[in-house]
Amino acid sequence: MEKILSRNINVPDSQSLDVYIKRGGYDALKKALSLPSEKVISIVAESGLRGRGGAGFPAGMKWKLLPADRTAARYLICNADEGEPGTFKDRQIIELDPHLLIEGMTIAAYAIGACRGFIYIRGEYDWIARVLVRALREAEDKGFSGVDILNSGHQFCIDVFRGAGSYICGEETALIESLEGKAGRPRLKPPFPAAFGLYGQPTVVQNVATLASIPFIINMGPDVFKSFGKPRSYGTMLFGICGHVNKSGVYEYPMGTSLKKLIYEVAGGIKDNKKLKAVIPGGLSAPILKADEIDIEMDFDSLIAAGSILGTGGIIVLDEDVSIPFVAQKAARFFAHESCGQCTPCREGTSMLKLLIDRIAAAEGSLADIEQVLRLCRYIKGSTLCAMGDAAAFSVGTMVKKFREEFEALVK
Ligand code: SF4
Repeated sequence: MEKILSRNINVPDSQSLDVYIKRGGYDALKKALSLPSEKVISIVAESGLRGRGGAGFPAGMKWKLLPADRTAARYLICNADEGEPGTFKDRQIIELDPHLLIEGMTIAAYAIGACRGFIYIRGEYDWIARVLVRALREAEDKGFSGVDILNSGHQFCIDVFRGAGSYICGEETALIESLEGKAGRPRLKPPFPAAFGLYGQPTVVQNVATLASIPFIINMGPDVFKSFGKPRSYGTMLFGICGHVNKSGVYEYPMGTSLKKLIYEVAGGIKDNKKLKAVIPGGLSAPILKADEIDIEMDFDSLIAAGSILGTGGIIVLDEDVSIPFVAQKAARFFAHESCGQCTPCREGTSMLKLLIDRIAAAEGSLADIEQVLRLCRYIKGSTLCAMGDAAAFSVGTMVKKFREEFEALVK
């Protein structure tokens, strides 16, 4: 299969600009700069590309939401925070093919008229941030980034900004707050970043894999991109498969590839020939699937129909020996720790969820505690400022609902 996001990763010295150029790198940028910016926007919109960071918002539509008046400063931010547990796809792009991201960002910036961009990378990716900075300097030296890019008159300067370890800074408005030097807490929306983003200016925030898909779309055209995947979920996805599989790793497959195939063929099946118990299909925020629910296609609509979400495409595989109350405890602790504390249902709700699940997992709980967990999840859902409250409630609540017998076995 032709690769969109991982075509260079196994090439020796794949991070270097020379290798990238020899393999056709920056051709898409040259082509984009020869087109009117509106045409670039329409090509990306036509491709049906949707955000790969979790929400799946159409990329071209995000660009079109910016105000028509281009006189004010506008910004492009690459969200490389990648804090969702079980997710490690973006780091592969940045670490092994950084120029693909830089090229995608530079095309996006040209399309929306941004002269300044930021890559917000999670603090833990220290060595990857250094790869990125090196690649940026190389790109600037050769005229692919910075002032007067390839003598086009277009300017786009990128800064790398390192996060400080907060999960919620992966939410676009919390990320913007953090970039502005404030505590990383989500903003009330509207206004959306397209109208009021960084420093109050029109801003586009997009994920690494979303931006890295753009050079292919410009080079090959929207129809070739749409030949991968399926309607409403075009293109490919980098699936990060981890947990109890024989070959964990990042694999690029078309949207709509069977989850069963990804686990049993691509990732080599369950370790030590054990049985599969459950799968979390899209990072920890995605509701868990039981072993008999994995005969599904990995795309936005199929996962929703199955009661979960595609999320980040980070697939966590759990074998028959895993205690689901133990997993729920880890999830509850994570969400309680990462709640920014701004809204009561999330701040108090996730702390209470953690307390209850801790008690149940320690075999000190009661049936009433299980009911209380489910009631709390119902209260949290839909009543918080950002999606994290929902994520905590769906993640923990689904584990309790689907594996209730394991929780009941632990209580008096
Ligand atoms: Fe903060 Fe949680 Fe409210 Fe989001 S839902 S704003 S993380 S308190």
